[in-house]
Amino acid sequence: MGTRRNFLEKLTVSAIGLPILGSPANLFAASGEPYQGPVLRVAIMGLGSYGNRVARAMVSCKRSKLVGVISGTPSKVADWRVKYDIPEKNCYNYDNFDQIKDNPDIDAVYVITPNGLHKDHAIRAARAGKHVICEKPMGINAREGQEMVDACKAANVRLLIGYRMHFEPKTVEVIRMRMAGEFGKPKFFQGQSGFVIGDPTQWRLNKKLAGGGAMMDIGIYSINGARYMLGEEPVWVTAQETKTDPVKFKEGVDETIQFQMGFPSGAVANCLSTYAMNHLDRFFLNGEDGFAEMQPSSGYGPIEGRTHKGELTQPHITHQTLQMDGMAQLIFDGVEPIVPVDGEEGVKDMKIIDAIFQAVKTGKRVDL
Ligand code: NDP
Repeated sequence: MGTRRNFLEKLTVSAIGLPILGSPANLFAASGEPYQGPVLRVAIMGLGSYGNRVARAMVSCKRSKLVGVISGTPSKVADWRVKYDIPEKNCYNYDNFDQIKDNPDIDAVYVITPNGLHKDHAIRAARAGKHVICEKPMGINAREGQEMVDACKAANVRLLIGYRMHFEPKTVEVIRMRMAGEFGKPKFFQGQSGFVIGDPTQWRLNKKLAGGGAMMDIGIYSINGARYMLGEEPVWVTAQETKTDPVKFKEGVDETIQFQMGFPSGAVANCLSTYAMNHLDRFFLNGEDGFAEMQPSSGYGPIEGRTHKGELTQPHITHQTLQMDGMAQLIFDGVEPIVPVDGEEGVKDMKIIDAIFQAVKTGKRVDL
């Protein structure tokens, strides 16, 4: 049973003295125990496909609550107001949302707009004094990501990136096992992330709004996964691009990229990012003493996987519910997830993406 005591027993103390969450982020939500602490009051910006998913998941949150919206589409706002009981005074559009600074009933803005708009949207929210949660990729390159980190620091607000897998129980267990040395020295990671993209007119295939193609959208899962599965930062990348449809995938919009990363320990990663193949959502970690394989590894779940010790049996809880309650815990109580979800974590992925694009362009190994 997920009692408060069990929950607290699973909290350990990190090297920097902050508690670390080594178990599903909100066992309170799973246990049904009444929660009486502070609630993170969130306004979602961008009421599209993922914004809708997050909103639905937040209905089950205990530590965070959807209280506002920022949208360019009045009909969606009207719909959400009814569905989620959102007062008119908490509704904004892209022209007037700086006024959110005068709204004491909103603590955080969750930016779920196209990638190319994240930087400006996040910085405006930070300047309005609100914590920022921003979807991945945090921007369209590392320079933008760093600007966002700096702006949030200057405004004294948190910047968190929507890395929902960092709260997902099976993923958390594999990371815990790796940290405990149960795989021995990690040697190899393989990540495959892809799906066949549809409508050629969508923003995901527009360089300005997407910042690239599959790599920004789905390949980033293999990059982030390589880092949390191996527990190291890469020191070099090589990459090769394949484009079978140059009409759909224009200049600067990648269709398929294979990339390799080298790590200080000598571990290597071999990954595939694509918008041209379905059923690609697989992680494999090989260590001297064991292995982990996960498929699906980063979709909405349930995540499935096993290690050399057997099947992973941790429960499936809606990722975005865990993420939003975990982020509230991080903001209010300083409880860190097992791997960070802060802006600096986002910049690390962006630097690798920048290097991969450079490696594709030059055909050379790029050192990080
Ligand atoms: P959608 O196109 O479905 O929604 C994006 C929304 O952004 C739109 O509905 C619109 O909302 C708003 N918007 C503002 N300006 C523009 C513009 N110029 N063009 C298009 N939309 C605009 O995209 P998704 O919801 O799928 O993706 C949004 C973000 O979420 C991306 O960064 C993506 O990478 C990320 N994402 C993350 C996932 C995860 O698992 N972590 C999964 C899916 C997406 P409105 O009409 O309200 O203004």
